[in-house]
Amino acid sequence: MTVTTAMDPAESHPHTINIGISSCLLGQEVRYDGGHKRNVFVLNNLSEYFEFVPYCPEVAIGMGIPRPPIRLVRRDDGVHAVGIQDPDMDKTDELRDYAFEVSGQLSEISGYILKKDSPSCGMERVRVFDHNNVPAKTGSGIYAATLMECLPNLPFEEEGRLMDPVLRENFIERVFVYYRWQQMIKDGLTPSALVDFHSRHKFNVLAHDEPAYRRLGRLVADAGKEHLHSLAGSYIDILMQALKIPATRKRHTNVLMHVMGYLKNSLDGDDKQELLEVLDKYRLGQVPLIVPITLLKHHLRKYPQPYIDQQYYMNPYPEELMLRNSL
Ligand code: SF4
Repeated sequence: MTVTTAMDPAESHPHTINIGISSCLLGQEVRYDGGHKRNVFVLNNLSEYFEFVPYCPEVAIGMGIPRPPIRLVRRDDGVHAVGIQDPDMDKTDELRDYAFEVSGQLSEISGYILKKDSPSCGMERVRVFDHNNVPAKTGSGIYAATLMECLPNLPFEEEGRLMDPVLRENFIERVFVYYRWQQMIKDGLTPSALVDFHSRHKFNVLAHDEPAYRRLGRLVADAGKEHLHSLAGSYIDILMQALKIPATRKRHTNVLMHVMGYLKNSLDGDDKQELLEVLDKYRLGQVPLIVPITLLKHHLRKYPQPYIDQQYYMNPYPEELMLRNSL
C-alpha cells in the first residue's frame, strides 16, 4: 500500500494518519472464495489522506484462502461464528482472541473501516441465525464487536455507511480529532496541553452535543487540581462519545452564529445582513455548510480573530476532501 500523508489543516505540516481496515476492502484477495471487495471510494478518495493498515481476522486465525464460509448463529450461551456447512467448526473464541491481540497493537491507528455484513468484520446489522435457521439483522461480527468493546473511543465505521455524506463526514472528523488527541498524549500530557486541546475543539463539540460541551469545560477547569491522567481519560471518553452524535443543521447554525458574534464589531450592516441570510439558507437546507463557512472565512481573513482562527471547527480536515459540500 502506498504510504500517504495528510495535511493537518491547522498545523500546516504533513503527518501520516493510520486507519485500520478490513483487508478485502483494499482489493486484497482474502475472502472465503478467494475474492475481494475492493472499495472504490476508500481507494480513490481516502487513500490520498490516510495510510491504511489492513487486517483480515479470518486469514490471521489460520482459516486459509479459500476457506469454508462462516456465519453467526444464536445459541443458548450467546452468538457464535460457525461453519455454514459444518456447524461444529466454531471460530468464535479464535476471532475474539485475535481481536484482543490486535487491540493492543492499535495505538498508532486513528480510525478503522470495517467490511459490512461479515460475521467477523461487520459493525452492525449482521445476520444472526436462530435455532430455526431464521436470520435477523441484529448482530456484529465477532472480531469487530470485540475490537469496538476494547477500544470504545477509536472511530469505527463501515464501508457501506461511508457512502452517506453525513456519516462519512462524521467519521473523518472523529478520526482527525482522535489523531490530534493521540499526538497530544505522545507529546506529553500537561494541564496546559489539555486546556489548549479543549479550547481548540470547543466548537466541534458544540456542533454535536451542547451538554457534553459544558461537561468537558468543567472537567478541564480542574486540570491543575485533579489527577491529570484519570481526568484526561474521562475527557476523551466524553469527547469521542459526543462526536458520534450527528451535528445537525440547527447545531451547526448555532456554532456559526457564535463565530459571527466575534465579527459583530467589524462587519458593516450589509455584510451582517448578507451573513444572516446565508446562515438562514443553510439552516433551511437551501445551501450546504461550505457556503456559510466560506463566507465567514472570507470575513475572518479581513478581520482576523485569534480565538476563531485556532478553532479546528473552521478547518477540521483537509478542505480537498470536500466533505462540507454535501452537508
Ligand atoms: S470481511 Fe474481514 S474476514 Fe472477511 S475477508 Fe474481509 S477482512 Fe477478511
